[in-house]
Amino acid sequence: MLEELDAPLAPLTTLRLGGPARRLVTAHTDDEVIAAVRAADAAGEPLLVIGGGSNLVIGDAGFPGTVLRIATTGFDLDGTALELAAGEVWADAVARTVDAGLAGIEFLAGIPGSAGATPVQNVGAYGQEVARTVTEVVAYDRRSGTTVTLGNEACAFSYRHSRFKAEPDRYVVLRVRFALEDAGGRSTPVRYAEVAKHFGVAQDERVGLREAHDAVLGLRAGKGMVLDAADHDTWSAGSFFTNPVLSAEQYAAFLAVAAGRELTAPAYPAPDGCTKTSAAWLIDKAGFGKGYGSGPATLSTKHTLALTNRGAATTEDLLALAREIRDGVRAAFGVELVNEPVLVGVRL
Ligand SMILES: Cc1cc2nc3c(=O)[nH]c(=O)nc-3n(C[C@H](O)[C@H](O)[C@H](O)COP(=O)(O)OP(=O)(O)OC[C@H]3O[C@@H](n4cnc5c(N)ncnc54)[C@H](O)[C@@H]3O)c2cc1C
Repeated sequence: MLEELDAPLAPLTTLRLGGPARRLVTAHTDDEVIAAVRAADAAGEPLLVIGGGSNLVIGDAGFPGTVLRIATTGFDLDGTALELAAGEVWADAVARTVDAGLAGIEFLAGIPGSAGATPVQNVGAYGQEVARTVTEVVAYDRRSGTTVTLGNEACAFSYRHSRFKAEPDRYVVLRVRFALEDAGGRSTPVRYAEVAKHFGVAQDERVGLREAHDAVLGLRAGKGMVLDAADHDTWSAGSFFTNPVLSAEQYAAFLAVAAGRELTAPAYPAPDGCTKTSAAWLIDKAGFGKGYGSGPATLSTKHTLALTNRGAATTEDLLALAREIRDGVRAAFGVELVNEPVLVGVRL
């Protein structure tokens, strides 16, 4: 187990932002992870678990406790059953399942970060989310001090949310198990309009598995959503805001405002009679186009939903931009944008 004091955290995040950790521990086995968590808990020390740092906004003051970096490895495929150690690089694991001819997570290609973080916010893209394929999550439960196995239901997955996000100081994910599908070299049914259009197929048709994986990588790269150290448009935490899910009443009010501006907003049915609209659309129509901003933090030039560090930004610079956009969207449309990344030691 590697241990460093006063360790810079910015290089461990895709935004390259955040002050130092009082103590940084890197764990390479599940036992090391558990020992580090137990030691921090016994000492009453604040704990921050970090994987790929791709969904984290850490304050400029850093973290006044132990940061535990999960660097465990393990890719075990048994038929169509996959078990990943939490520290596995997600995008690499996805590529390996495609190499093995298995469908189920191919549309989640190119998403940065670790396998262990995927159940935390129920990672999703291009019509797939891990909630569909996760069978079990093995986690260390800090409340009981034991290792537990949670089935899919117990994970309480919903849009960019789960039990792990709802109880942020309770579970440390050690392993994630998935049920994949052997569809004879085909993908799972296409559920996303942009992908269906790309392949010229109807929604719910299957396409070639590798083609699906590679097409998603191409579409993502065009939006700055694949990491590239040389491209500041990817110095981000991906989508900074979730797509708002509006109740029937909120949606009616929103439609009236949009109609008054002669705009037709994207709308997708969501559970419980709600409607999901597009945060990227709201940001754009509220006057924040691609590349918006003149300071060291700006919107990506490729996507209005990514807030980026142009190289010299601080976390406060990024948050100032995020507040300006949130407030602007509220003033224009009466819709409250909610941040997707986890904020550490700061508030929006
Ligand atoms: C360019 C870009 C594109 C992105 N595109 C997408 C996308 O299409 N869809 C999507 O859903 N997300 C996307 N994201 C967000 C991000 O990649 C995912 O949320 C990813 O799963 C985060 O993984 P991570 O290992 O980097 O987590 P981190 O950023 O290290 O941590 C995120 C949160 O999870 C917790 N955590 C991490 N590991 C564990 C663990 N083992 N046990 C318990 N808690 C843990 C952390 O404490 C923190 O609260 C994107 C990000 C970037 C930078």
